[in-house]
Amino acid sequence: MNKTPTILTGLRVNSEITLGNFLGALLPMVRLANAHSQTSHINIFVPDLHSIISEIDGELQQNLFTSLKYFLAAGLKVNNHVHFYRQSYVPAHSELNWILNCTATMGELNRMTQYKDKSEGKDGVNVGIFDYPVLMAADILLYDAEYIPVGEDQFQHLELTRRLATRFNYKYGEIFVLPKEPKDQAKFMNVENGIRIRDLQNPEKKMSKSTHAANSKIMISDDPAAARKKIMSATTDSVGKISFDTFNQPGISNLLQIESLVTDTPLQDVISTWSGETHYGDLKQKVGESVATLLTDFQRKLTAISDQEILDLLTEGEKYANQVANSKLLQVQKALHLR
Ligand code: ATP
Ligand code: MG
Repeated sequence: MNKTPTILTGLRVNSEITLGNFLGALLPMVRLANAHSQTSHINIFVPDLHSIISEIDGELQQNLFTSLKYFLAAGLKVNNHVHFYRQSYVPAHSELNWILNCTATMGELNRMTQYKDKSEGKDGVNVGIFDYPVLMAADILLYDAEYIPVGEDQFQHLELTRRLATRFNYKYGEIFVLPKEPKDQAKFMNVENGIRIRDLQNPEKKMSKSTHAANSKIMISDDPAAARKKIMSATTDSVGKISFDTFNQPGISNLLQIESLVTDTPLQDVISTWSGETHYGDLKQKVGESVATLLTDFQRKLTAISDQEILDLLTEGEKYANQVANSKLLQVQKALHLR
């Protein structure tokens, strides 16, 4: 088949993200999209039906607009290959979910570790938690998407998608395109060197938005001057000499890593600039400066993007998504003699 390939990313709706989320997830995705949007479709969708599995958040609509704005403020270049859409605005997702439910087995879904983790020892677990990997398969298969940048925690679901597609194709003909195997996904996304920004106060842990201590994390909405202060008060060590040593000097290594990502400078270059220096304060000063500049720039861009701009992108994207998804769904329905 010789058509434009599709890269698909589902975007968890988060109104608040950390510098870790930004540098470790958002920015790599934006760079990947910018690098491929001439030659691939880039589908960026909000899995709003997935989000109602756990809690119904009254802020869902506002938050999803904010999340999409983050992509633009982080530098996503929009062209006619970049498509923003909401899952629930493309009813074919739910339709195919049902159809694939009749292919997937209870045993298969029972084996999903995400399901086991989330349901273990709980009463009244909803069917959505059990079934959401099948909805995810529909999200992917409707668009012939081959690359889906997901974390390792989703690899099992990707394997399930491949298995369901193979089973369906075997019975009804070559209807679905299989997404690439997880190892090829990882290669494509270059995640072998997946980075983890560390907690500023406890650098042996990763920075997480759910950590309570405000000094441990930098939020992307932090006042730039306050963020600089957090960097200045970051935990270091008593070695007294800068080197990139994640085991003995996790705090210092974290600062070097942040500097590299924020200034888009190869880590090796940052390391050679600072190695052997003894004044930790100078490094903190520099990293604090860089982070403050990044936040100022990001926040300025963010406020310049209107809701209307996002709505226009969604309207356009949902038109495209419905066309592609409905045409795939029709093939499936015909194969099943539903049409
Ligand atoms: P929580 O504490 O609620 O788990 P989190 O900060 O770990 O929040 P997630 O929503 O779990 O964030 O993850 C969002 C994305 O950010 C994922 O792709 C994840 O791999 C990435 N990510 C999370 N923390 C970091 C970090 N410290 N450094 C780099 N990437 C990160
Ligand atoms: Mg997490």
